[in-house]
Amino acid sequence: MTDRNDEWFDRARDVIPGGVNSPVRAYGSVGGTPRFLASARGATVTDEAGRTYIDLVASWGPALLGHAHPDVVAAVQDAASRGLSFGAPTSGEVELADLIASRVTVGTARPVEKVRLVSTGTEATMTAIRLARGVTGRDLLVKFAGHYHGHSDGLLAAAGSGIATLALPGSAGVPAPIAAQTLVLPYNDLDAVRDAFALHGDRIAAVIVEAAAANMGVVPPAPGYNAALADIAHEHGALFLLDEVLTGFRVHPAGFWGLQQAAGEEYTPDLFTFGKVVGGGMPLAALGGRADVMDALAPAGPVYQAGTLSGNPLSVAAGLATLRGATPDVYARVDAAASAIADALSAALTAEGVVHAVPRAGSLFGVAFLPDAPRDYATALTQESWRYAPLFHAMLDAGVSLPPSVYEAWFLTAAHDDDAVSRVIEALPAAARAAASA
Ligand code: PMP
Repeated sequence: MTDRNDEWFDRARDVIPGGVNSPVRAYGSVGGTPRFLASARGATVTDEAGRTYIDLVASWGPALLGHAHPDVVAAVQDAASRGLSFGAPTSGEVELADLIASRVTVGTARPVEKVRLVSTGTEATMTAIRLARGVTGRDLLVKFAGHYHGHSDGLLAAAGSGIATLALPGSAGVPAPIAAQTLVLPYNDLDAVRDAFALHGDRIAAVIVEAAAANMGVVPPAPGYNAALADIAHEHGALFLLDEVLTGFRVHPAGFWGLQQAAGEEYTPDLFTFGKVVGGGMPLAALGGRADVMDALAPAGPVYQAGTLSGNPLSVAAGLATLRGATPDVYARVDAAASAIADALSAALTAEGVVHAVPRAGSLFGVAFLPDAPRDYATALTQESWRYAPLFHAMLDAGVSLPPSVYEAWFLTAAHDDDAVSRVIEALPAAARAAASA
């Protein structure tokens, strides 16, 4: 039976490559027709066929407060009434930079001294790397297999997210000399990092790592791993770049770094990147960190970066309203909803005898069809990934929208109340049965 989603997808494929403006949306690994969304509110999204789903995608992270939160919508409407874009500095940008810096604080540690606003996570990481190269005068970059930092040329090697979902080694169109500047190492393996620095230490500008990997499924760092990465980088005069685009302001008021500091794992990134929650659903991302490094950005310094829409007033308004609304109660609610669903998911799969793990990084979790949670990309790729499509579709049929790939995290919001959580939990046994029979 075709419905409005099929009609739109047919039309979309005629004018948009693959029918989507970002690859993972295409249901490539789960099959079927992507839902064309018409509206979203609280914990739910509604498609073009008029069907409403409990949503565990949350726009891939930004909707921490829930979709279309009234305070965020009002802030954006108010900003819109004063003008959509000025291409000039605004007071809101200063307030948001201040708020980001003051949120990323635990005890006396306040590692974000200066902030620059950009429009996407891709720009944030791309700029952070240019900055690291600019201040160190070195070219090489260390990244980890399965980590996704956006789609700039040097960062697509062995990247997660859609690269993992579509089982691609990287991207066509990246010149070999650029790819050769990126050393891709296995995650959670400090010896590999020590070896790389022993060989190339004086040529490595930076180590970039997802604060907790969540683009190859959820793969948290081993205890002490992030701190050791910071130490190794610093011993060799390289910078340590913590990518919190996905985790920042989502898993803790001060991001995954904050969660780790609060748990006693102390380290100081030179630069952070933020996205998603910091823009509250509008195009906004940021990089921030040590003042002396950040001051190398133009016009203060020689490293160039710019953007017509950088610090856009509507995006800034959404970011300010979202961060101001992200109170301790919000994190408690998101944590509780995540735990309830993660536990129920594991119980349902166990009841059906499906070999699985439900890895967690704060409120982020996902499923891996392996006996133990994977520690790296090579292991994540060995899972019985085909079990995810039937699970996904059983949930969708029951009115629950999951990320359309086993390599993505499930996202909760503060709007997932007991009723929404119950609806997800009630759908899980049948979905687990579908996964078992795959
Ligand atoms: N870094 C990480 C850790 C991400 O998860 C993402 C996007 N999922 C990005 C960077 C890129 O952000 P954007 O899609 O806004 O360019």
